Amino acid sequence: MSNEKIVIAGAGLAGSLLAIYLARRGYAVDVFEKRPDMRLETISAGRSINLALANRGMAGLEGAGVMERVEPLLIPMEGRMLHDEQGKLDFQAYGKRPEEVIYSISRGELNKRLMDAAEETGRVRFHFHQALESVDFNKRDVHLRDEAKNQQWTLGCDRLIATDGAGSPTRQAMKQQLDIDVSEELLGHAYKELNIPAGKDGQWQMEKGALHIWPRGGYMLIALPNLDGSFTVTLFLPYEGNPSFDALGNDPTRIQAFFHDNFEDATRLMPALVDTFLENPLGKLGTVRSPQWRVDDFALMLGDAAHAIVPFHGQGMNCAFEDCLELDRCLDEAKGDWAQAFALTEERRRPNANAIADMALENYVEMRESVRDPKFKLQKELGWALEERYPERFIPRYSMVMFHHLPYAEAQSRGCVQQEILDALTSGDVGKVADVDWNQADKLIQERLSVIRDQ
Ligand code: FAD
Repeated sequence: MSNEKIVIAGAGLAGSLLAIYLARRGYAVDVFEKRPDMRLETISAGRSINLALANRGMAGLEGAGVMERVEPLLIPMEGRMLHDEQGKLDFQAYGKRPEEVIYSISRGELNKRLMDAAEETGRVRFHFHQALESVDFNKRDVHLRDEAKNQQWTLGCDRLIATDGAGSPTRQAMKQQLDIDVSEELLGHAYKELNIPAGKDGQWQMEKGALHIWPRGGYMLIALPNLDGSFTVTLFLPYEGNPSFDALGNDPTRIQAFFHDNFEDATRLMPALVDTFLENPLGKLGTVRSPQWRVDDFALMLGDAAHAIVPFHGQGMNCAFEDCLELDRCLDEAKGDWAQAFALTEERRRPNANAIADMALENYVEMRESVRDPKFKLQKELGWALEERYPERFIPRYSMVMFHHLPYAEAQSRGCVQQEILDALTSGDVGKVADVDWNQADKLIQERLSVIRDQ
């Protein structure tokens, strides 16, 4: 066993998984977490009660040998269930193959299982109520605050891996001490979590196997199923304008009327809507892009700390888990040279994190607006037809991101070319897939898309 002093800041999803990876490599790891132990105290699991887990995240869990203990938490979602203003439903599958599904999972339960698995290695110690406040990169010191005793203290260490989330104090310290220009862009929309309780006998009151969306153009409501028969519902809405969180304020009448007018079928299933709306905090959303994630062989940021993204592609956690897997691979390649492993991880992950950040922003428009457009539906159908005909060259972008492992940056660049092909093939009066000119399709695909090397 190595006697290096390895510190992880943040015992969230990425920090807990990374602790397992490092313990499996023989390192002893100390994880410092600001909040109390969620296994002992009922605390809000943080942002979003449940999440969509997809292939990339599952690869990260499998790599650490923990997929089996996570499986009982999964609820498959086979597609989007769109709810229009009249409550009419329209199901849009995510893919064409049975394995092309994503999974709803409880953030809290997942986090707890990862912490248990980390502790069971015998090499990981979690320290709760310990907030990292700052880092001295020259001295290799981490400044912490014991939140229970309200005392500051300092710890020297050999490595610091910062998975301290979107507001990362490690990133703030890097910005100041390394004078780097980090972009932290807040979205003009926020979110509020609500709940559709289980029905009689703990049954789900809507289709359980789908991610529900109420797309309304400038805003939307979504709902993901929970194992107890309930749904976690999230309203995404601008801060300002009309409608907006500002315009609704804390006025029960306005809140009730807004939901009744826009999401009538969901409103009927939320008897405690107004109380929950008033109780729950408003969540911020934003994108972080940092030009630097590491300092020599001492520090590396991963997960949201390095690259927070908006949640509309359901990829923040998936990307963070892929980061952990990549660092593990880079440690193999670098044969114990931490500086090289950190450099390789940053080099491989940063362009990909920037790509998924862009695609996540674009997907907000897709979810709240485009899904209602007949042209979008036609192109979706055509994308699947092209995938069936040219499986080695054409995979719809959503599928590349959610069901495959090719780097996000490649999914993004191939996706741009594919969109141009879809636009060309559906121009003019093409109204259905049968109207498409397949000679033109053949030519465009052969000329413009190389064979995919999927991993
Ligand atoms: P976090 O999970 O935020 O963990 C950070 C940890 O660090 C926390 O435990 C925190 O308490 C701790 N911490 C913070 N500051 C300090 C400090 N100073 N000292 C010590 N500890 C500290 N992703 C998906 O893949 N699929 C989804 O469907 C999805 N849906 C989402 C919905 C919403 C509304 C939001 C906001 C996000 C969603 N995400 C989703 C993104 C996902 O939540 C994040 O990408 C993921 O949690 C990142 O993991 P992380 O460990 O880097 O950060």
